[in-house]
Amino acid sequence: MTAHFKEDRDFACSLDQEDRLAPFIDRFYKLPGIIYMDGNSLGLLSKDSEKSLLRMIEEWKELGINGWMNAEIPWFTYSEKLAALQAPLMGALSEEVMVSSSTTINLHSLVRSFFKPAGNRRKILMDGLNFPSDIYAVKAILMDSDLDPEQNLLLAPSTDGRFLDENDLIGCMDESVSIALFPSVLYRSGQLLDISKLTQAAHERGILVGFDCSHSAGAVPHSFDDDDVDFAFWCNYKYMNNGPGGTASLFINRRHLPMNPSLAGWWGYAKERQFDMNLEFKPSESAGAFQTGTPHLLSTAPLEGSLALYKEAGIDRLRRKSLRLTDYLIFLLDTLLPEAESGFHVGSPREQARRGGHVALEHTEALRINEALKSRGILPDFRFPNVIRLAPVPLYTSFTEVWDTVHHLKEIIESGEYRNYSKKRGDVA
Ligand SMILES: *Cc1c(COP(=O)(O)O)cnc(C)c1O
Repeated sequence: MTAHFKEDRDFACSLDQEDRLAPFIDRFYKLPGIIYMDGNSLGLLSKDSEKSLLRMIEEWKELGINGWMNAEIPWFTYSEKLAALQAPLMGALSEEVMVSSSTTINLHSLVRSFFKPAGNRRKILMDGLNFPSDIYAVKAILMDSDLDPEQNLLLAPSTDGRFLDENDLIGCMDESVSIALFPSVLYRSGQLLDISKLTQAAHERGILVGFDCSHSAGAVPHSFDDDDVDFAFWCNYKYMNNGPGGTASLFINRRHLPMNPSLAGWWGYAKERQFDMNLEFKPSESAGAFQTGTPHLLSTAPLEGSLALYKEAGIDRLRRKSLRLTDYLIFLLDTLLPEAESGFHVGSPREQARRGGHVALEHTEALRINEALKSRGILPDFRFPNVIRLAPVPLYTSFTEVWDTVHHLKEIIESGEYRNYSKKRGDVA
């Protein structure tokens, strides 16, 4: 698979020259002097997103309240409009997607709406490698239903602390499970789960299934409708480049629509009649029913520019480049920093079909190596206790930057310079 790569820097330059997506790099504000490997935590600002955000600020300046109806894209239907633009990235119909709120809030509203414990089916199935916020939320939901999380939250185990085996997850799907909630891509190892297989197995057992796609939205094309996923939600400030705290999104399969949202509010009302101010709630027939209050438009506007960029670049082309970038990164790590000499272990799947957008690099000295990388102008991120995540992003990372990153790592290891850094952990790591 990697035999066609070579280890010299000229080869990296030739990959960049052949790269049809390379021109997109100039559409982003790259940090001067920095190689940004952190698109999986916070994507960079594109000029396109800056433009859509500034336009909305101008509209506010010039139109005031009339922006709701008279802005270039009227604010009243802005979220619906962006949802329709995002739906193709997820293999969904426009009415199944909504851009709204934040990831954790969307989890709460979706799971609270779908979870109907009855008879012996009272459990929620997750996994032991899941993102903590998701676990906290589900425990709170169980407690609000008078169900003890100790007994009713099943965490499917991982055998190695890195990966999940779909068959183990399916093995936990018994008659006591009501809902299964999994990540599409694991935030630490970057493993991509088989959404189609898990969904089919869950449905065969009478279980509803939802996915947290925070680490795959914008990195991996999805086919929610073909896979028949029940619901999903994701973060837009990672690969979707919607900015810090930017508005998130959710998906509800049309089979379940119309649906009553647990967090009902006037923005989830049938759109055409919202301003009738009727005291009887009538939910929108679309996933828009899951909006609650007035949308956070200034935190949504950057997504407009970003979605236009995605349309231009194409999610399938981006996925192909992403896999080539991570293949190349793994090739260079294997070649230049073999585990036996460097102590690095590639903690991400080597098979393309099981890999998301980043590569997890494990090392017992990961914390200090991460610090040394930052001093050299590489921006990765660190996950306690031993993982450096490197996310080369196909919209704005070059193959040469991947080469440079690995060479910095090699120098850091060979010189032992990481020993100059403290072992103490910062507040955000
Ligand atoms: C980033 C991320 C979140 C973030 O949730 P917020 O509500 O935006 O803080 C949630 N779940 C997963 C798996 C994530 O990767």
